[in-house]
Amino acid sequence: MEGLDKSRDLSLYIHVPFCARKCDYCAFYSVPVSGDDERIEKYMSFILAELDALSREWGRAYKTIFIGGGNPGLLGYERILRILDKAMENGRSEEVTVEINPENVREDISILSPAVTRISLGIQSMSDSALKTLGRNASRKENLKALSILSSSPFDWNADIITAIPGTTEKDTVSDIEEVASYNPDHISFYCLTFEEGTPLIKREKPLGEDKEESFLLSGWKALERLGYEHYEISGFAKKGKRCRHNLVYWNLGQYVGIGPSAESSVGYSSIVSMRDSETLDDYLKRPEMTCSKLRKEETEEEFLIVSLRIKDGIDKEEYRRRFSSSFDERYGKAISTLDKSSYIDTPERFALTEAGFMQLDWIILRLASVI
Ligand code: SF4
Repeated sequence: MEGLDKSRDLSLYIHVPFCARKCDYCAFYSVPVSGDDERIEKYMSFILAELDALSREWGRAYKTIFIGGGNPGLLGYERILRILDKAMENGRSEEVTVEINPENVREDISILSPAVTRISLGIQSMSDSALKTLGRNASRKENLKALSILSSSPFDWNADIITAIPGTTEKDTVSDIEEVASYNPDHISFYCLTFEEGTPLIKREKPLGEDKEESFLLSGWKALERLGYEHYEISGFAKKGKRCRHNLVYWNLGQYVGIGPSAESSVGYSSIVSMRDSETLDDYLKRPEMTCSKLRKEETEEEFLIVSLRIKDGIDKEEYRRRFSSSFDERYGKAISTLDKSSYIDTPERFALTEAGFMQLDWIILRLASVI
């Protein structure tokens, strides 16, 4: 694999492109299937073959593994275990996450342990009317059942919550967070609803508007912190010691390989090679094929800014020097002096955004990237 740096760790992402039906807000690549669709077994044979080739090339354990979707829960637990058996042939990973939608969480989910260490549960909302607006498959009742099963399971687990859903109030956001937190998840991912081009949602509903979205987000952030979750990434909240290690690989621009239709990879160090597996399921089932593009050093640096500023720890200036052979302060000092002082923390070791900075993340990235 072009650009793979064998002196560094490698994480693995496996994309499962199947959903029972498409949610109305979703722009991720996935195809609706029923549980016995013959494409599922075909997909399995290609994924296992890709894993086999990759494991032979890499030759050691992956740092972390994330099986995401789509809804990997649709594969059923036995297939998930078959994938992980193959993926961990060279040794166990320190964290193995599987995304599962609430309707696929069964009482016997602990059979996924110890291969799986972490479950990510797409709750999104606790209100039936908001779930309907989103076009989710699961109801409040199914969400409650999944929360209850996971709260007494052996896994670390995450719950996704979406705010600023049309028809909901700021109070609803806080009450969703409080209700989900009462089941004691180790991690909560908390996002503002985005209206993606081409989705049924954008044709039917209007966003609440920037002011409301900001205010909903702030109330949610406050509630999560009050409930003992550290705001360590713009959308990530974790109990002590429970940050998602796989996502931290992304935010630290670590190496990861993604397999499965439309999965992305990023390998290398000061100039990364970015890859994408076959765009669609049909193409993938003909023959998986990675398309590669080598980023120039400046493009890698921009990518580094984009991902690192999402995390509370921000940019490690020494790591920046090692990667790009220049001084962060010399490169960005002037641009930083034009930012609002409440939006960042700048020390000799690190440059990081505050919550006020997270609110202006895109603008700050533009400002800093303009000097590259
Ligand atoms: S389950 Fe997830 S991936 Fe599938 S359509 Fe819904 S949001 Fe998209």
